Amino acid sequence: MKLTHYTIILLQVVVFTCASPALAKSPQKAAIQIILDNAYHKFKKQNPGENADYIPALAKVDPTYFGLALVTTDGKIYSAGDVSQPFSIQSISKVFTLSLAMEQNGPQVIVDKIGVNATGLAFNSVTAIEQNKARSVNPLVNAGAIAAVSLLDGKNEKAKWSGLSAWYNKFANRKLNVLEDVYQSETDTNGHNRAIAELLTSYDRFYGDVDTNLAVYTRQCSVAVTAKDLAVMASVFANNGIHPLTKKRLMSSDNVSRVLAVMTTAGLYENSGQWAYQVGLPAKSGVGGGIIAVSPGQFSVAVFSPRLDSAGNSIRAQQAIDFIAEQLNANIF
Ligand code: GLU
Repeated sequence: MKLTHYTIILLQVVVFTCASPALAKSPQKAAIQIILDNAYHKFKKQNPGENADYIPALAKVDPTYFGLALVTTDGKIYSAGDVSQPFSIQSISKVFTLSLAMEQNGPQVIVDKIGVNATGLAFNSVTAIEQNKARSVNPLVNAGAIAAVSLLDGKNEKAKWSGLSAWYNKFANRKLNVLEDVYQSETDTNGHNRAIAELLTSYDRFYGDVDTNLAVYTRQCSVAVTAKDLAVMASVFANNGIHPLTKKRLMSSDNVSRVLAVMTTAGLYENSGQWAYQVGLPAKSGVGGGIIAVSPGQFSVAVFSPRLDSAGNSIRAQQAIDFIAEQLNANIF
């Protein structure tokens, strides 16, 4: 939030607060809330795209949900729309699993055993593995994300899940549950991810039992979050590893910058370059319709809207975050 742009927002707020004296005491608070409200109203009526349907439970989610939340690094929370509606975190989970894999194994292991370059291909691409001689992908596509689970501590499925879910809970600052119908639906239709894990195993690029790690990965994708939860979770990345609400350090700042780097190059799959060009914030999408974006040192934002583009990224969430980032002059480039 640069000073010049801030001045413009403050002017808008001065006009707004003439009619609302209660807000006059807190212009910054009012400015951010106005921006979220404006984004909500601007994009509420247009709702293009389609729900994901390759996981049957996702096709049934009401496509009209639209929730926006923003958390500043000083721990203030702003929201608009359906911010308390639970939905499955899906691929956004990958950044939190990557964080734990990094904290447990160190950042170099991720480079050596998974890879960190963008594949430029779809989230569930088998070709990405085949066409790279080193079988190197990245932890934000399905192949690398399932491999990241295989690197986590825990001698069996229960132990692994217990460590991973406790890690997610720390970011959310509350206990998150699993949407069992989504877990079941995805488990019943998981042939493609199983094929990916088997293929990686055949190339010695998978680090444990396929069934165990696939079950944990599928469970992590089925975790229920709200837009507010996601903004709170992502705020740890915005605040360099320290949770803005609990003030506890969850990860090293060195690892945060590496997670943000992979989000920048691969967070929106094959559209990541276009996103960086247009919006300029590290981000991660999920086929459940959520997207998180991080403005380092400033804020995190999360938007939920189930309808996706052909790459698997929520269309309205992209539009809303683009608008909010632009209003807050947040492009890091
Ligand atoms: N659970 C989904 C899968 O493995 C996640 C994909 C996504 O959100 O992009 O296909």
